[in-house]
This record gives sequence, C-alpha cells and structure tokens, in this order.
Amino acid sequence: MRQSELFYKTLKEAPKHQDALSSILLTRAGFIDQAAAGSYTFLPLGFLVLKKIENIIREEMVRVGGQEILMPALTPKENWQKTGRWQSFDVLFKIKAGKEKEYALGPTHEEIVAPLAKKIILSYKDLPIYLFQIQTKFRNELRVKSGLIRTREFLMKDLYSFHIDENDLDKYYQKMADSYSKIFKRCSIPVFKTLASGGSFSKYSHEYQALTEAGEDIIYICQKCRLAINKEVKNDFEKCPGCSCSKFEVKKGVEVGNIFKLGDRYSLPFELKFKAQDGKEKPVIMGCYGIGLSRLMAAVVEHNHDNKGIIWPAQVSPFKFHLIQLENNKKVKKAAEQLYKNLDDVLYDDRTDVTAGEKFAESDLIGIPTRIVVSEKTLKSNSVEVKKRNENKVCLIKFSHIFRIT
Ligand SMILES: [Zn+2]
Repeated sequence: MRQSELFYKTLKEAPKHQDALSSILLTRAGFIDQAAAGSYTFLPLGFLVLKKIENIIREEMVRVGGQEILMPALTPKENWQKTGRWQSFDVLFKIKAGKEKEYALGPTHEEIVAPLAKKIILSYKDLPIYLFQIQTKFRNELRVKSGLIRTREFLMKDLYSFHIDENDLDKYYQKMADSYSKIFKRCSIPVFKTLASGGSFSKYSHEYQALTEAGEDIIYICQKCRLAINKEVKNDFEKCPGCSCSKFEVKKGVEVGNIFKLGDRYSLPFELKFKAQDGKEKPVIMGCYGIGLSRLMAAVVEHNHDNKGIIWPAQVSPFKFHLIQLENNKKVKKAAEQLYKNLDDVLYDDRTDVTAGEKFAESDLIGIPTRIVVSEKTLKSNSVEVKKRNENKVCLIKFSHIFRIT
C-alpha cells in the first residue's frame, strides 16, 4: 500500500471525548474514527488489524472443530420471550419494525442458535457439534466509555457447542480453554484466566482478563500461583482455590473473552432434545465461548505502546514493514520502488510533501514492527537503514541482503 493513497489522517493531539489510551492512540494514528459515542468506523489500517485478529481466531476455532455460520443481527422478540430474556437482559437493544413486529439487535445468539440446532440435531449421532460466527453485536449501554472497550456495537466471535452430556461438555470446555490461551498468545496479549460467576447451570465461568488501567473489572490475582478471581465472586474465596495462599494482588482488567457452561438453560425453552443411545429423549447440553475482537484490539494497544505511539506485535500489525523513502530524487525513488515491489505486506511512505521528521514521527505513531529507510545517505553504502519499532538500535543492511531478513 502506498501511503500517498492511504485513506487516513494522523492527529498530533489527543481527540476530544476519548478517555482510554488505546482509543486515543488508535484515533491519532488513523486506525479508527468515532461516528458517535460507542460506535466506531474502522479505517483501512484499523480494519487490517481487525482482519488479522479475526483470522487468528478463525484458524483456532476451526482447529477445535468449529463450523462457521452467520446468524442474523435482527432477532425476533418471541425467541427472547421464550427464555425470559426480553425482560431480564438489561442492555437488550429493542427495536420496532412497522406497527406490530419487534426485534432485538443480538447481543449474543443462544436465542437463535438453539432453535436452529433443533432443526438439525435429532439423535446422539448428530452430536457433538460446534458452531461459530464472527459478527457485529449490540448492547444498549446507558453509558459508553473507554473507547473501544465499552461500545454499543462491537465485533465478536461466539461459538456454541452442543453435547450429549455434561461430561462431554467438560472435555470440550477444557479444549476451548487451551484454544483461548493459544489465541491470546498469538495476539501477544497476556491474559489471566479468571474465575467469574456462572449462571443457573454451573457456579463459575471463566473470563479472560487483560490487565489495563482502562479496564472496568477488578480482579484478584493469587500472588503464589497467579490464579485470578473476579471481584464479583471473590467473597466466595478466602483463600486461593488453586494453592490455598491468601495473598492477592488487586488489578484492573478488561474482559477480552469468556467461556461458559450453559447446560440445558437454552435447550429446554426451545425443546432442543436428542434421542440417546438407550432410545430416551434428553435435552442437548450446551456451552458458549466468546471473544470481543474490537476489544481485543484495544487491549493489544493498551499493552503495546510507548510515548511515541503504538508498537504492534507482528502477528496483528496492519503491515509487516514500513518502508520510508526520504528524499525525492531519482536514485532514492528507484531503490525504494524496487523494495516496494519485492517486499510482502508493506506500507510504503512515498509521499514527497512531508519532512523526514514528520515521516518518522508518524511511523512511530502507527507502530509497524519493522521500519526500512532508504535515503541518499544509506544508498552511498548500497544499504538501507532497518529499525525495529520496539528497539532503539538502527542497523545498516546491504540492499542486496534486505530480502534475507524478511
Ligand atoms: Zn494460588
């Protein structure tokens, strides 16, 4: 991508009405734009990051047997009435279509996926099955804050698992926990698997909390074994359930994912049953597993930045290389163009009306992991200057060797 053609604009100052550091940096660097409180546009740079995160999640979901579907965002009132959540879900986005019909804009999809599964799952032979989607979700929050961390509209992956019994659900739940660890590791974001409240079926669920001052959850981390407990259930534990230690560190976190045993909570209202091997009808046992993609992106930035800007981990960076052409003369241009043609995944700062200082400042703000500078000076020794965003060291690398480091 040529920077001269890229749809973006960087800001020197923090935008108004943004309180989270991640949203300030993402807005200043031209990744996102706030359309209204709690709703954001992802600009080309931001959308590239979102797609990289999406691909990591998709790969890992497919690896644990997930089949991708896409359910509607517009979900009928009747389904929510069946589960009682038309009334009890406090941030349900309710809308009217015409005079009669009412819908909810889906904040989660048990009310759609359970009746869907009922049409296809008949016998134990049809189980287990794992369905996931990556889709925009809605929550009618009274107050929105912390930029991408709490919004009214956000991108989420939700997977629903269907099992013959609790034992099979337990096994898959563990598999999913391992898969989540892998996903967050691939996104270079340290998380705490945190005990949180469960629901009618299981006493506890697990949240994946990324530590950040912009987070809204309070978590207690065991000083000995690092097991974490959400404040909402901390009263249940005087001592750490992992190692019996009673010393906890208190931190703020943002929930980037959760895994939840649903049991028969949603299969009963929709009569989602199957014929077991003994011929008896039994309710299908379910689990659900979410990851907020836009939130995860914010958490990655909260964790990876310095006073100059964002420092993207390579796996989720919008580009691998930031190629900067300093002077606009024939020789430098020719060398830069040649590199641009031969490098993969590169943002090429080919602009001719911007000073070197501005190019460097913007490059640091945008935060692509490897910067390659071509200038008259570097070409004197047939070289380019290579610098990692997270290091101060600058290396001169022979032009002919550059492709070996990529
Ligand atoms: Zn412990």
